[in-house]
Amino acid sequence: MTASAASPGARRSPGDLRRYEMLVDGEWVPARSGETFETVDPFTGRPWALIPRAGPADVDAAVAAARRAFDEGRWRRAPGRERARLLRRLADLVAERADAIAEVETTDNGKLIREMQGQLRGLPDYFHYWAGAADKLHGETIPGATADWLIYTIREPVGVVAAITPWNSPVLLLTWKLAPALAAGCTVVVKPAEQAPASTLEFARLVQEAGFPPGVVNVVTGFGEEAGAPLVAHPEVDKIAFTGSTATGSSVMRGAADHIAQVSLELGGKSPNVVFADADLDAAVDGVVAGIFAATGQTCMAGSRLLVQQDVHDEVLERVSARARAVRMGDPMEPETEMGPVAFEGHLAEVRRRIAAAEAEGARLVAGGRRPDADALRDGFFIEPTVFAGVSPEMSICREEVFGPVLAVTPFRDEAEAVRLANDTEFGLAAGVWTTDVRRAHRVAHAIRAGTVWINAYRSVGPMAPFGGFKASGMGRENGSEAVREYTQVKTVWVELGGASRDPFKLG
Ligand code: NAD
Repeated sequence: MTASAASPGARRSPGDLRRYEMLVDGEWVPARSGETFETVDPFTGRPWALIPRAGPADVDAAVAAARRAFDEGRWRRAPGRERARLLRRLADLVAERADAIAEVETTDNGKLIREMQGQLRGLPDYFHYWAGAADKLHGETIPGATADWLIYTIREPVGVVAAITPWNSPVLLLTWKLAPALAAGCTVVVKPAEQAPASTLEFARLVQEAGFPPGVVNVVTGFGEEAGAPLVAHPEVDKIAFTGSTATGSSVMRGAADHIAQVSLELGGKSPNVVFADADLDAAVDGVVAGIFAATGQTCMAGSRLLVQQDVHDEVLERVSARARAVRMGDPMEPETEMGPVAFEGHLAEVRRRIAAAEAEGARLVAGGRRPDADALRDGFFIEPTVFAGVSPEMSICREEVFGPVLAVTPFRDEAEAVRLANDTEFGLAAGVWTTDVRRAHRVAHAIRAGTVWINAYRSVGPMAPFGGFKASGMGRENGSEAVREYTQVKTVWVELGGASRDPFKLG
């Protein structure tokens, strides 16, 4: 068994490492090699849990279990309402344990407890949404060219799904994959990120408690190259649902190509928050701050480019920078903390490298940019909320994802220039548009090439609304009715009704 849900105090005791096992075919198991790795609390900088270090043999076992459960088990053939019942039970269990899992998540990735509680408490909505869909996944009848034909389609589960997730919102981003996959009748092998795998294992206990049959949901923990890559390349995997960086996403696509697995990719972003002079500036400044400093900027949809119309540029820059300087950094477990550390030491080094590059390229540092020197923050992987002004489109800070609390500010003259700058990126995940002109709001929303555009808002998601990227931000959609396509495939059945024999050498 895995350890029971963590209490926040547990992470403060060095040497007392919580031990976890993985879920394969309904059993809690160590890695076959017996190897483990440590996961580190980003606030204390100390390891707090030991995680099985899965390799290809563990991946084989998990995929074999998922394959058996799909091919031979009752799961995919069960009426949708049976799958729905289990999804609802899981929703109830998650609702009961949301706060405990949130604590594990904060301990593992350093994001604020209130952010993780918010995510976990909202999770049951996703399972209820997909429970509601489970018995409504049907095909259609199609009129044939003549009355001799009945043509209909069946929507079938795609098969064994590999769900590979990042460290920033492990259980939420898993749910975006798992809930529709299970509703459709797929079986799943989950591979969480090595930097924050514990909450996924805690969540897997609830999957088991809810009564999902063995092999329907499996979890292997380990590193990208050792566990993720073999899972992607496994010939018995039918579909890979991946969230992570664009670089890994393209290697996932290559791995899937060898066995023609289906792929959906939720990747990185460099999303623009576009503030027009006629905007409600109080709301816009709040939205800009939420877009880049919430979650220490470690969200795929971070509004990391602020495009602001010249007339209000200085005022908005001043207000956002003042807010940046006033952000309360601290223990992410404390409810009044506004920004915690970044998730791991290597990531801190990477964020600092990008800040240094921006300065070297001539961007003007207006706020932050350094490690805070307060004693209480010394052990954690902290970086100040950072604002760069005078950013031009060719600078790396305007083009590359930082995945940290670093904002790049660029002025624009008019709507046409705003749209051009917003689209001048390889990414296309999200955008915010701030204006009180309703026509302009929709014009700009239509012109921006991104999977999600918020008007006078930023960073809202929900089970009902499709989410995903244009361009290098990915392919496929999670959430909403669109996500059904990711976990089902359509079979077309032709029924000859006329009884006539047909010309064997003629198509039709
Ligand atoms: P990452 O790409 O390094 O890792 C993501 C997952 O892929 C991890 O589980 C990792 O172990 C695994 N992995 C690594 N190499 C692999 C390989 N060769 N084959 C298979 N799996 C492999 O990303 P990360 O640093 O954990 O996450 C941050 C990135 O995720 C950012 O770029 C962010 O924008 C993106 N992200 C996107 C969304 C979205 O919905 N679009 C959401 C959250 C995060």
